[in-house]
Formats: sequence, C-alpha cells, structure tokens
Amino acid sequence: MKKFTKVLSLVLAASLMVVMLASCASSGGDEIVFGTNAEFPPFEFVTANGIIDSYDGIDIAIAKQIAEDNDMTATIENMEFDSLTIALQNGQIDAAIAGMTVTADRAEAVDFSTPYYTATQVMIVKEDSDIQKATDMADKRIVVIQGYTGEVCVQDLGYPYEAFKKGTEAILELVNDKCDVVVIDSATAEKFIGDNEGLKIVEDSEAFENEEYAIAVKKGNTELLDKINASIEKMLADGTVSEIAAQYAESDTEEAE
Ligand code: GLN
Repeated sequence: MKKFTKVLSLVLAASLMVVMLASCASSGGDEIVFGTNAEFPPFEFVTANGIIDSYDGIDIAIAKQIAEDNDMTATIENMEFDSLTIALQNGQIDAAIAGMTVTADRAEAVDFSTPYYTATQVMIVKEDSDIQKATDMADKRIVVIQGYTGEVCVQDLGYPYEAFKKGTEAILELVNDKCDVVVIDSATAEKFIGDNEGLKIVEDSEAFENEEYAIAVKKGNTELLDKINASIEKMLADGTVSEIAAQYAESDTEEAE
C-alpha cells in the first residue's frame, strides 16, 4: 500500500511537471507580441483577411517573418501610436512595429533595431492648391496626426496647426475643405490620395529630411533586439523587404488579402 502511494505521488508529480512545462511554453517564450497602430496603410491596417488575425501590411508581414525566422509566433496588439512606448516599458508588448521613425527623443525611451525603410514627410493638398513648398503653409490651415513626426516638423516650422488622432480623420478634413493641407509620411500619403479623388502630394525635400523606420524594443532588451536585427538584416540583404513594400504599395490596402 505504501509503495503504491509513493508510485502514485511520483506519477502525479511527473504529470504536474508536464502540465507546468506545457503552460510555460504557451504563456510566453515562443511568442513575440508586436504593438502597432493599424491606421497607417500600407504599413499596418485592419482588413477582413489579414496575415495576422485582421491585421495586414508591410510591417505585419515583416513581424511575421521575424517570428518565423526565430521559430516563434507573432501576435499583434493594436493601440494608439502614442501608447506604444509606454506599452514597451510596462511589458504589455515585446516590440513596436508601426512605421516608427527613429528620433533622438524616442531613442532615449526605447532601443531601435536596424532601420528597414526610408520615408519623408509630404504635404497632401487639394489638386487646385497653390501650396508648392513647406513655407507656403504659413497662412494655411494645417492638419497633422497627433504624435507623428509630421507634427514635430510643423512645430519646428513654427506654424499653428490642428492635430487629429487618425490619418483618415485628417484626410476627411481636407476632403471637406475644413483644412488646406495635411502633413504625413510619404507612403501613407500615396495610399490616401489613391483612395480619395481630387488630392495631390507636394514634396519639399529642403524642408523635410529623410526619416528611417525601425522596430522599437524596451531599453536593454538585447536578446530580442539581436533576433530582430538578424532577421531584418537578412530580409534587407535578400530583397524581402523591398518585395513586401512593393507588393503592398500596389495592392488595395482596404481589401488586401
Ligand atoms: N513615421 C511617423 C512617426 O514615426 C508616423 C508613424 C505612424 O503613424 N505609425 O511618427
């Protein structure tokens, strides 16, 4: 009887360990939680058949590949762009992939990966607008998206502006003649003018410098950053990033498959 109890408790202990190991694996370790703001086509947007749940875009494809390269799975947490840094700091997400421009200010709060995309700010205006360069915005009604680098650019120029939370809201203001110009990232601007008639893009390379997009991790998380960098560098070298970018630039991001 005694022996039987001993065997039974050993069996129980062993099965408990199996259960604990299994739950350990599913509660982290092999998963990367990417935070994004899925309001930024072609980099991230919500669609019926996304490649990760209902999320799709250049960044989502890159996130998926990074996870695959490391035998991990990628999950997406959608939140406001302004919340990404805090979510990294409090461990709600492991990495932020959101067309995020590397800036000195942000680099004080997070660590950035190797950059994977170069963009610039542009001005979206009505087709008949007389705005030709950034200084022409001086006496115009300017709209930016809150917390984006476009807001910082307009602040630096010293012009008053109104900030909206979403690119689509900003574009609606322009379409409805409630503002004269929206300052936003180049590839996203291309998408918005493709989706709305009567708009055009005005560039000013003297006023708006090139920006580099990179993935952000919590300061000091070198373990994850090394994995992300190895994967990004491979994808840059073998042309995967350019392929993905070209694919989403051409496709209809409102109904991408
Ligand atoms: N590149 C811009 C920035 O970093 C906008 C990014 C975004 O909206 N996802 O502020």
